[in-house]
Amino acid sequence: MKTDLPSYLLNDDLSPWEIFLEQIDRVTPYLGPLARWVDFLKRPKRILVVDVPVRMDDGSFAHFEGYRIQHSLVRGPGKGGIRYHPKVSLPEVMALAGWMTIKNAAVNVPYGGAKGGIRVDPTRLSRAELERMTRRYASELNILLGPDKDIPAPDVNTNDQIMAWIMDTYSMNEGRTATGVVTGKPLPLGGSLGRREATGHGVFVAAAEAAKRSGINVKDARVVIQGFGNVGSAAAQIFHQQGAKIIAVQDSSGAIYCARGIEPTRLLEHTKHNGTVHNFPGAEAVEAKEFWALETEFLVPAALEKQITADNAQTIRARIVVEGANGPTTPAADDILRERGVIVVPDVIANAGGVIVSYFEWVQDISSFFWSEDEINQRLQRIMQEALASAWDVSELRGVTLRTGAYIIACNRVLEAMELRGLYP
Ligand code: NAD
Repeated sequence: MKTDLPSYLLNDDLSPWEIFLEQIDRVTPYLGPLARWVDFLKRPKRILVVDVPVRMDDGSFAHFEGYRIQHSLVRGPGKGGIRYHPKVSLPEVMALAGWMTIKNAAVNVPYGGAKGGIRVDPTRLSRAELERMTRRYASELNILLGPDKDIPAPDVNTNDQIMAWIMDTYSMNEGRTATGVVTGKPLPLGGSLGRREATGHGVFVAAAEAAKRSGINVKDARVVIQGFGNVGSAAAQIFHQQGAKIIAVQDSSGAIYCARGIEPTRLLEHTKHNGTVHNFPGAEAVEAKEFWALETEFLVPAALEKQITADNAQTIRARIVVEGANGPTTPAADDILRERGVIVVPDVIANAGGVIVSYFEWVQDISSFFWSEDEINQRLQRIMQEALASAWDVSELRGVTLRTGAYIIACNRVLEAMELRGLYP
């Protein structure tokens, strides 16, 4: 991808890892002498691929492929979620781990970057099979995990119950209770107030900051959201509480639209009963093409990677894209949105609320001293606002996108740490 041509004239069909590499290439010219360390970011430090055998309820055996990747441990223990999805692949988990390195540095929490996943459709497993798969996977990962080594958290299709099983499995293997080995746990096991909503909450804080700097009023603003899981539904609720109007929501089964606004708590109830946003009373179904082209102040992709591509970026009529998901925008689409004056608040800042409150949870577990929800939310808000403000200032100063601005700050932090530590031996 090293060429002078704008990237949208090139191949837009990059793997997530190739997208990460392209993003690193784009920041390299701004790293000064630290650029001599940049190749360390282009190679994950450690990759573990494991077979996860599971005894199914009918007595047969099934095998799933599991991964845990520690992209960088330069600034602290590995930190990043675990995803269960039929399309999980090595290049995807590598990219997700790389984005965690950048994110943790962009918001300055003392972690490296890691990520894990199993290639599985968890909806096809019984609860008992899901538990056995999770516990076997956690055991296979035992050589990497630990409160001061690598600390997983929930991601797509994983939740607080799965974190509880991982915590218990690790604790059983270690012969002691180690609550700090995962975050996003249930409250009775050392979970943190505010963690479940943290990513969506952070998405809102980032959106509001970008809006303030762009002369957009959040009250009465329109919001279009892709993905109505942990991130999308929590973001929708906070936008709604602050007077914005959720006009469209898409999940894996399709999209719904209602110009008057969708009430997110009712939509959440509806999805709990029906498993999808489909047929929500008062809303009409819209095709994916129309969904992306809706006129709106905020567009929040909160599902999977590579949703905004060279194909649909031309049609987007949002003022601000706030990346709730990791890697939703390809580099080609980034260039198109930039040309069209659409602001993109990058994933490494927009969805960092989750890892920030995960950091608070880990600190609370280690110190066995728990904070009030107000304290957590205030600290979350302050860190998000500062991270967004710094990226905004750098992007204006250097004349680059907010993404590259955030990468300049993050890569400087990681590579400076690397230079100070030096290359062993
Ligand atoms: P989730 O499993 O709770 O929800 C995913 C949602 O996306 C569901 O509504 C699903 O129907 C929808 N979806 C899946 N495939 C889709 C498709 N092809 N088109 C439209 N919708 C689709 O997952 P989550 O935890 O909300 O994570 C969503 C994104 O946010 C991921 O990129 C994840 O890496 C990122 N993220 C999550 C957290 C967290 O704390 N959970 C933190 C940071 C970033």
